[in-house]
Amino acid sequence: MNKKARTLSEYVNQAHAEAAPAEPATPSWLPELRALLGEKALDTGQDAVEAHSYDVWPVAAKWRNQGKRPFAPDVVVTATGAEQISTLLRWATERGVPVTPWGGGSSVTGQPLPTRGGIVLDTTRMNRVIALDPESLLVKVQAGANGLLLEKELNVRGYTLNNSPQSLDRSTIGGWVGTREMGQFSSRYGGIEDLAVSYTVVLPTGEIVETLDGPRASVGPDLRQLFMGAEGTLGVVTDVTLRIFRLPPFRLMEALTFDGVEAGLQAMREIMQAGLRPFLVRFYDRDEARHAMQDPAFEQCVMFLGFEGVEGVARAEYEVAMDLCSKAGGSPIGAAPVEAWMARRYDFSTVENLLAEPGGLAETIEVAHFWDRIFDTYQELKKALDPFADEVLGHFSHVYAHGTSLYIILLGRAADDARAEQILLEVWDTAMTICLKQGAVISHHHGAGLARQPYVDDALGSSHIVLRRIKEALDPAGIMNPGKLGLE
Ligand SMILES: Cc1cc2nc3c(=O)[nH]c(=O)nc-3n(C[C@H](O)[C@H](O)[C@H](O)COP(=O)(O)OP(=O)(O)OC[C@H]3O[C@@H](n4cnc5c(N)ncnc54)[C@H](O)[C@@H]3O)c2cc1C
Repeated sequence: MNKKARTLSEYVNQAHAEAAPAEPATPSWLPELRALLGEKALDTGQDAVEAHSYDVWPVAAKWRNQGKRPFAPDVVVTATGAEQISTLLRWATERGVPVTPWGGGSSVTGQPLPTRGGIVLDTTRMNRVIALDPESLLVKVQAGANGLLLEKELNVRGYTLNNSPQSLDRSTIGGWVGTREMGQFSSRYGGIEDLAVSYTVVLPTGEIVETLDGPRASVGPDLRQLFMGAEGTLGVVTDVTLRIFRLPPFRLMEALTFDGVEAGLQAMREIMQAGLRPFLVRFYDRDEARHAMQDPAFEQCVMFLGFEGVEGVARAEYEVAMDLCSKAGGSPIGAAPVEAWMARRYDFSTVENLLAEPGGLAETIEVAHFWDRIFDTYQELKKALDPFADEVLGHFSHVYAHGTSLYIILLGRAADDARAEQILLEVWDTAMTICLKQGAVISHHHGAGLARQPYVDDALGSSHIVLRRIKEALDPAGIMNPGKLGLE
């Protein structure tokens, strides 16, 4: 980008204006790269380039429908291991060639889109389980391993990751680290930052680095956190050691209705501040409750709760939670709605089908705030986004003693895909501006990507300088995933 865009609309419209021609010239460095890595590692074919030019960001879906391709790689490189990646990155730093890591490509914010072309490094062939430690409950896997395949392999042996993003079937472990991902059972088990114990990362200048291994350490700052959520801007993660858990022997679930959002927020806050550890807490406002209950006539807010583990403990936690919910005005309606949701929890078809339609638009924006400001943030976002879509839904599903995440989901239809794209960009600009004004966190777990690129430096405020200095030190040539995290 030539000049700093102030809004996402400005940023993307500038990108379209500067977009690479449909038939890009072969880059002069390609023969060198071929000699370095071998012919088999490189793919410049139309299918590979196309597949690595769009992630699952709804704006990218609209580009694809319109035949627009603002960000395309020159070549897709198949990653085979840390040594090969080290050779590649050392060369790319010397030659100033951009490299963008790619896992499952399931980002919903444009994170792996190569804004400067160059190399997309596809990690999905690096998918082996390296070691399983049943005593310390750890598994070491290559970073390109698919989440669902790993979970299934563990289940057969009586273990689980307890990390269940809705995209489990289409995302990789390296992508989880790159995004600072969080699964649907996070209120008990935490996010990837709690589940990843250590990892290996190749720095942009080629060094292969292993982070400190251990249950906890007090040996300087926790460097494991440095690459979590770095979106591939600081290096390539090649293997990860994750905590695993024995499959739970017992589960109790319950759905409860509430008259309003404030009552549900109070119940969730009380549950977490009482030190209970539900594996599932999801609270839907009236508009989204119709979808969650699969009942268009449903007229209340609804909460899904789940407890698991040792039976006596789970039952006791359930009883206390029911009491706290009842004091906040909640009424139990049985486990069936939660069981139905558990069975379809990876289904994303409502959004995908709508986006596939000409003019169809859908977006998911997840943010977070402390308890004292989350209701105001929710109300302001719902009101401001209402004119952009037919339905604006809200739910809260990653809950802490000090605050909660908030998802706003938009579903609607515009005249055509061009108009839908512009609406989506305006939605992001509106939502991000409100979050900054409210002091809310602009992304709870989907990452900044392109969707939030113009807002990252404001969101990080005075601490953005630390990120910029780390970037300059680790990636002096600025090759890694350029144009992300407000680093350009
Ligand atoms: C239907 C659907 C549901 C989703 N549900 C959730 C959810 O519940 N929770 C959640 O957190 N997210 C969710 N997401 C978003 C997304 O799936 C996650 O962010 C996931 O972690 C991305 O993993 P990936 O392998 O697809 O990474 P990619 O999309 O390929 O990449 C994501 C980022 O990580 C970087 N990266 C990838 N691999 C590496 C590596 N080896 N080393 C360094 N950087 C790397 C990329 O450069 C990019 O910046 C959902 C997405 C979809 C489509």
